[in-house]
Amino acid sequence: MNYTAEIICVGTELLLGNTVNTDARDISEALSELGINVYFHTVVGDNPQRLKSAVEIAKTRADIIITTGGLGPTYDDLTKQTLADCFGKKLVFHEKEARRIRDFFRRLDNMAMTENNLAQAYFPEGSIIFENSIGTAPGCAFDSGGKHVIMLPGPPGECKAMLRSGAIPYLKKLSDSEILSHNINIFGLGESAVEDMLRPLMISLENPTLAPYAKTGEVSLRLTAKAKNRDEAEELMKPVLEKVKDILGDYIYDVDSAGLENTVLRLMQERNLTLSAAESCTGGLLSKRITDIPGASNVFLGSIVSYSNPVKTGLLGVPAALIAERGAVSSETAVAMAEGARELLNTDLAVGITGVAGPGPDEQGNNAGTVFVALSGEKDTCFRSLKLGTDRNRVRIMAVHHAFDMIRRYLTGLSVI
Ligand code: ATP
Ligand code: MG
Repeated sequence: MNYTAEIICVGTELLLGNTVNTDARDISEALSELGINVYFHTVVGDNPQRLKSAVEIAKTRADIIITTGGLGPTYDDLTKQTLADCFGKKLVFHEKEARRIRDFFRRLDNMAMTENNLAQAYFPEGSIIFENSIGTAPGCAFDSGGKHVIMLPGPPGECKAMLRSGAIPYLKKLSDSEILSHNINIFGLGESAVEDMLRPLMISLENPTLAPYAKTGEVSLRLTAKAKNRDEAEELMKPVLEKVKDILGDYIYDVDSAGLENTVLRLMQERNLTLSAAESCTGGLLSKRITDIPGASNVFLGSIVSYSNPVKTGLLGVPAALIAERGAVSSETAVAMAEGARELLNTDLAVGITGVAGPGPDEQGNNAGTVFVALSGEKDTCFRSLKLGTDRNRVRIMAVHHAFDMIRRYLTGLSVI
């Protein structure tokens, strides 16, 4: 059966624009991985009448209703009461939950439990209770007349944790099939180019399905199959994955990677190689991205943020005459920075990045988005000359993407520039 779901987020702060509705995004992401179609997101304030009318509408158009927020102990937390009313259920007291809530407060010496905290021990009759590993408000799920209702807490960390520990396992049990996905990671092609190249294939597919997603400067394709079990789902995806690889070639940098830096780190670990960097316009972003990954220290030895010319010359040994003649933003300087870092930090590979992050041109008249990225290896040093637009944030992210892309191409024997 193909289930449809509606997400109802409760909270006046969401309507006022004080809080971004990240819970809806997180839940939608999880449901799409389960193959459940989300047709509506509804946001409603902390008002029982309006929540009731939102639920009555959702009942007519969704098999699964997931609410967030309003599970807490305060007077405006009315979600359980309202949902119970909408489905003609009583709220019943759960002694075990009451004990857990009392224990929670006992462990916090400076916080007294008030009686209203025990409101959190009442649930619509017949509910399965989802423990809250982070806060006090438990969530729950029940079914009624073929409809499934799941209630999750509002705080995003609690919502996500309970989604994983309670809601997803509950939803998986509703279905007798297995949904499996692979993410195909692409760099160097825009979303529309990817769609253009794959349109005939995407249209012809029913199971598995193939859908593109874009992040800053990166595109990924999600391949999703539904089958009786995991092996069958893999079998369904295999030929399509091969076809996509044939069409997109080495624009595909990995499958199921969390990002270019993760792929680069893995490739370098497999080859026992070390990396360093000299960063100018990216101000350390490449270093941050790679050190965000636990275990990066055996590959990434360090970097120099050479934001000024004296640091480029003094620390990295970029000749002052070269900067005077070619400019700090030039391929020659990028190459000298990479070579300087490689020598100074004694690594197998080193990256040099110099450019104008924007939004305006630099004092030498180089346009925003002019960036040179160099990669120095044992054999030689090569560089890319890039025009990355005028958005400062995007220029920096793209410069780092390119640096990682050059490394993965270098390591896998592809043309780097
Ligand atoms: P609590 O036990 O904290 O009272 P609750 O389930 O009652 O949990 P709310 O009181 O509605 O949740 O919200 C608690 C916090 O979570 C608020 O700071 C709110 O801004 C945030 N929050 C609520 N709903 C969402 C949402 N849909 N997306 C992101 N943040 C949210
Ligand atoms: Mg609230």
